[in-house]
Amino acid sequence: MRALPDPHESPGQFSRRRLLALGAAALATPLAVSLNPAGQSAHAASAGVAATEYEQRFLDLYGKITDSANGYFSPDGIPYHSVETLIVEAPDHGHETTSEAYSYLIWLQAMYGKVSGDWSRFNAAWEIMEQFMIPTHAQQPTNSFYNASKPATYAGEHDLPSAYPSQLDPSIAAGSDPIAAELKSAYGTDDIYGMHWLQDVDNVYGYGGGATGPVYINTFQRGPQESVWETVPHPTRDEFAHGGPNGYLDLFTGDASYARQWKYTNAPDADARAVQAAYWAHVWASAQGKEGEIAGTVAKAAKMGDYLRYAMFDKYFKQIGDCTDPSGCTPGSGKSSSHYLLSWYYAWGGATDTSAGWAWRIGCSHSHGGYQNPLAAHVLSSYAPLQPKSATGKEDWAKSLTRQIEFYRWLQSAEGAIAGGATNSWRGRYAEPPSGTATFYGMHYDEKPVYHDPPSNQWFGFQAWSMERVAEYCHETDDTDARVVLDRWVAWALSETTVNADGTYSFPSTLRWSGQPDDWDPANPGGNAGLHVSVADYTDDVGVAAAYAKTLTYYAAASGHTKAASTAKALLDGLWERYQDDLGVAVPEERADYRRFSDPVYVPGGWSGTMPNGDPVDSSSTFASIRSFYQDDEDWPKVEAYLGGGPVPSFTYHRFWAQADIALALGVYAELLE
Ligand code: CA
Repeated sequence: MRALPDPHESPGQFSRRRLLALGAAALATPLAVSLNPAGQSAHAASAGVAATEYEQRFLDLYGKITDSANGYFSPDGIPYHSVETLIVEAPDHGHETTSEAYSYLIWLQAMYGKVSGDWSRFNAAWEIMEQFMIPTHAQQPTNSFYNASKPATYAGEHDLPSAYPSQLDPSIAAGSDPIAAELKSAYGTDDIYGMHWLQDVDNVYGYGGGATGPVYINTFQRGPQESVWETVPHPTRDEFAHGGPNGYLDLFTGDASYARQWKYTNAPDADARAVQAAYWAHVWASAQGKEGEIAGTVAKAAKMGDYLRYAMFDKYFKQIGDCTDPSGCTPGSGKSSSHYLLSWYYAWGGATDTSAGWAWRIGCSHSHGGYQNPLAAHVLSSYAPLQPKSATGKEDWAKSLTRQIEFYRWLQSAEGAIAGGATNSWRGRYAEPPSGTATFYGMHYDEKPVYHDPPSNQWFGFQAWSMERVAEYCHETDDTDARVVLDRWVAWALSETTVNADGTYSFPSTLRWSGQPDDWDPANPGGNAGLHVSVADYTDDVGVAAAYAKTLTYYAAASGHTKAASTAKALLDGLWERYQDDLGVAVPEERADYRRFSDPVYVPGGWSGTMPNGDPVDSSSTFASIRSFYQDDEDWPKVEAYLGGGPVPSFTYHRFWAQADIALALGVYAELLE
């Protein structure tokens, strides 16, 4: 029973920057190495001597990122979303963190192992992720009550936050979960081995009570129009200590009565990235004869990949295809509810009362091109050290690999960019889509899956992130179907990229879409002559530049494409020579969207509660009013002036993922093209 955890937007949809209160406090007391399980030290750069120029650049940036004086990490060694605290994008505070940041830490330490030969930091990065971002048994205490034949109670998604709470409807049958039993058999536990996606590292909201350490929280719950500006942050374990009489539950889900409960939401792209990083760690450590040093961590990555299959299932385990009526659509059995794609989330929850237990699990019906990871699917199905232990994990990932490549082919526009995605549940409630909507295995083309404010299909970063994985996969295999997709994408991206003589550069930032793909026919893929992209504006964003440069590097190394190689070098040289600062590599960005600090947050009339700090939550609430702590932020005056009619504020953000991706791009360039 119970459900409705939901979509979250990807961290990093917008880009970037600045130095802050808590970061400055950390400066006063440099941390001992022993306090940093992930292995960052104050002088990490001195830990390695580089063989080449780009390897040295990797070490220089790695040194800045891991310098405890620079503010990237909490005292526990957890990477913050950004050094700066005032930042709102997918996370609504910079000293929150995400599963994304943990996955980048693991990847960064894998590259450090390659360059230095020291694999202890890679192992420590996985351990800190496991300790803080995978719920312990005590934090998911009632999974033993889970009934895999009735995974969750249905509640439809709605177009607007004001349509929530969404009423639970037990009359609509969910299908059965075909992997719970084999996972329990393989690992000897009912608990899920996957990351929750969002954490309040400094306990800024106060859901951790008097503790100073990290606390699991969640935000997005109310459909595609609920931007971060319209969310109500709440604890993942709702003991009714804050919010209203039912905690926060009745803002999201309508029920006859409410029980204290816990619930977590996984971001599949992040878990897949952790698996991807473990693969490279194993490849690089093996080249040094040191794979034995990381064998335990690699086995854990395979386990994470096994559980990540929950992202391959329809939200309510309904059959895949032609599911356009919640009552009429057949509940799935066996694997008929698997779309074999990396969807936007999977989620799980249950009662806190271990003597009156119940628990639920859901997959996700919505899949986005930007979340796919064929490299992870490839290694989980074909690379022995990462083979999952469950009975059907390996074969599911093999099928997923094929399906993901087909998905890219289906979504590739006439120009070459990859369009949004597909859904098995139109409008999140198994509605009937407009007639003529293109199909992929009976699912429907969804131009902007999961979120519309802003549209999920417009950020070029999703193109770069996703195609970088395709480029890695093509580098490691000779899959000609994937290679065709990559050839066309690179040609399009290069045609939209400018490198100037002075080292400046620009590439797409915001994309606009029109039309739709042809219906997918695996035997005879169409040319998608009616699906088009255009570039609305361009950027020099440093994090996306790194992901893009890494794509081009893998592509050039595999194909010998000289313009891809020279453009990768130009991007990396441009950001290195022009945009370095004391903390890393960053560029200023104007944040006109910060006008939305004053956006109303929908709360039903008559609903009244309080945040842990006493901020009232009611129908008069705004983004800022339920986050009064922001008024104490060093950067608040810039926002306050803007809200009062002043100029658009500018920030120079140091996002953890972006700095790590830049370092990784330098390391990969050194490995493959230098
Ligand atoms: Ca909205």
